[in-house]
Amino acid sequence: MTTQNDQTSLFGTSPEEEQETDTAAQKAGQTAGKAAAQPARLVDVLVPYPVEKAYSYAVPAELDIQEGNYVTVPLGSRDVIGVVWNTETQAPPQNATGKAKRRPKIKEIIHRMDDMPSMPREHRNFIDWVARYTLTPKGFVLKMALSVSSAFNPPAPVTAYQKAANISEETRNGLSDKRKAVLHALRDNVPRRAAELADMAGCTASVIKGMEKLGLLETIALHAMPPCHSPQTDTERVTLSDFQQAAADNLCMMLDEREYCAALLDGVTGAGKTEVYFEAVAKALDMGKQVLILLPEIALSNAFLDRFKSRFGCAPALWHSSLSPAKRRDTWRGVAEGKSRVIIGARSALFLPYHDLGLIIVDEEHDPAYKQEDGVIYHARDMAVVRANLGKFPLVLVSATPSLETMMNTWSGRYHHLHLPHRHGAAQLPEIELLDMRAHKPPQNYFLSEPLIAALKDNIEHGNQSLLFLNRRGYAPLTICRGCGHRLACPRCTAWLVEHKQSNRLHCHHCGYNTPTPKQCPECGDPENLAACGPGVERIFEEVTELIPEARSVILASDTTESHEELAERLNDIKAGAYDIIIGTQIIAKGHHFPHLTLVGVVDADLGLQGGDLRAAERTYQLLHQVAGRAGREEKEGHVMLQTWHPDNKVMQALAAHERDFFYEVEGEEREMAHMPPFSRLVGIIVSGKDEQQVLDISIALGRSAPQGEKVQTLGPADAPFYRLRGFYRRRLLVRADKKVDIQKTVQSWIKSIKVPSTVRIYIDIDPQSFL
Ligand code: ADP
Ligand code: ZN
Repeated sequence: MTTQNDQTSLFGTSPEEEQETDTAAQKAGQTAGKAAAQPARLVDVLVPYPVEKAYSYAVPAELDIQEGNYVTVPLGSRDVIGVVWNTETQAPPQNATGKAKRRPKIKEIIHRMDDMPSMPREHRNFIDWVARYTLTPKGFVLKMALSVSSAFNPPAPVTAYQKAANISEETRNGLSDKRKAVLHALRDNVPRRAAELADMAGCTASVIKGMEKLGLLETIALHAMPPCHSPQTDTERVTLSDFQQAAADNLCMMLDEREYCAALLDGVTGAGKTEVYFEAVAKALDMGKQVLILLPEIALSNAFLDRFKSRFGCAPALWHSSLSPAKRRDTWRGVAEGKSRVIIGARSALFLPYHDLGLIIVDEEHDPAYKQEDGVIYHARDMAVVRANLGKFPLVLVSATPSLETMMNTWSGRYHHLHLPHRHGAAQLPEIELLDMRAHKPPQNYFLSEPLIAALKDNIEHGNQSLLFLNRRGYAPLTICRGCGHRLACPRCTAWLVEHKQSNRLHCHHCGYNTPTPKQCPECGDPENLAACGPGVERIFEEVTELIPEARSVILASDTTESHEELAERLNDIKAGAYDIIIGTQIIAKGHHFPHLTLVGVVDADLGLQGGDLRAAERTYQLLHQVAGRAGREEKEGHVMLQTWHPDNKVMQALAAHERDFFYEVEGEEREMAHMPPFSRLVGIIVSGKDEQQVLDISIALGRSAPQGEKVQTLGPADAPFYRLRGFYRRRLLVRADKKVDIQKTVQSWIKSIKVPSTVRIYIDIDPQSFL
């Protein structure tokens, strides 16, 4: 959450202020709704602005207002959409003489949105809960949930085409092949939109428009059905193995209970977890419920969507940040009306107003992408647990490498543990080999060790594909002048500029700042001595091209493809075997299934261990395990080589020995000894502003009054690891508390005790995942 003493100055005038002082607007409100003669019924309406609570409004006699109704209310000089939060509002308090206390005049509700289904109680409870937990103003959470402003406009009809009634045999025979194809496509008398029809008939839309002019086609206005309104559950499906069937049966039993319940579906990549939870999805649909499947990275999940389509006979409704406004509106409404049955979404899909949600699946539950770091700061996996709890339905967390938190919850019995022990069919887990870089040191400015190069060559000879994984975009993460020692840094962030050779620019990966790669050192002017330090994927590509010139290589990183379509195309080419060596960042690590891929080389397995983050070991384990899982997904055996300078590190050892649970136990013990999550709770506080002195002063003031004691300790203030970010100075405090402490209450009263100028922002991150 963002907090300021004047919460709302971020968004202009405080609505609270307006409600109390803006008399002109009050008058406007009264004339719109007519002043009530009798004491009117009052209800509380929450508006999507950063307000802490719902405000009272009067209900005009002619309006039937129920909890959850969407309404228009006057707020200052504006009319805004809000939600009736509570109808049990107390009458205005009376003083001892029986006269109503002087208080601002209550304004009237202007309008009720008749064609919108009410916001269900569970959803309102959920918004309340998230606001309380994340210390975010309630109205701000509502704002996130109502992100689709056009959702309240009635859906616009679309034009569809059908065959004209009486086309003579003679006319028909005289038509061009394309026109015949259009009529053929409409032989089932189902009206279709121009684009769909053109696609089916293999012609352009102008052919269809032309046929309409000639009277061969007629148009009708259709109301578009929201996506995923009629999934089928009885389509043909795979025969589950005994283990898979047992897990699926368990999930179905959980659904039968119609109560909250959580399970971890745990199994290596390729074990059939998706097949298993599809059974639960089918069952929930048969029970008439809606289903939400959360995925960390929707943009990369084309293969998943195809699979869904073939299992359920229709495309799921999608929810993510790059949807078109029209799609957003259709989906939002479809979800609210209960017509969209299965939603596959990124974390924000949790905040859709489901009509009757009955199951949530969180796939790759350990993925860091589930943490939202700006606006309302929340963890979607944790909030999914809350949502299921409030809605009294089951939740399934899915992962091959669960988060330590989830693992502890299964060990303690809070979550069911459903385990799929093997890969499906003949596929075996790949062998994982540690390459000790101290023994296989590459020459200066090279990064691939001899055994790895030999293995790559050998793999090409056998006609197989290889993946080189390095989680770093660009050419080199640091450029240094060997003459004067100057390092090229971002002018706005505490970060080095990353060289990108493809674009011949230096980029800041934190704020987007970029500049042409200089020809000489900007400090000393030396034209000879600028040197690239360390590798990014572009540099590995260069090395591969030099050392294995016969290889067909390709780079795959989030910035090397222009669009989702291009990325999908590239992935298909890889699948089809068009490349021998794929050099990729974590974009390639997730969920893909490349049948010819048998060798995975991790260029720098130690990369994620640097930086001292609480979860560095856990994250590295998860990521490398996932990358390793790309190898040998079919009959061909897989082989993984990890280049490491620390082969004795527990992460490397656990990976090589396939000792996952042992790793979790050791990691768990270390966290317990350090009294760190999941054995305690953390709250991160970032003080941020453009005025360095102010930021320093406020952070010191916060430090002085910070909670300290046996059950709560505060560390800091200290400079945040990114002391400057996008031009803002940042100082950090970290609160650690026993799990029993009401940490929200503690933090809130502490922060409120400090007067913060409006030019300084305080970010509160409950259960922080990153410490930057
Ligand atoms: P996970 O989600 O655990 O990675 P998937 O469900 O994606 O595993 O399964 C991996 C592959 O194996 C998929 O192509 C899937 O269709 C196939 N598969 C899994 N179980 C079976 C089964 N019982 N019969 C046939 N194919 C299966
Ligand atoms: Zn920057």
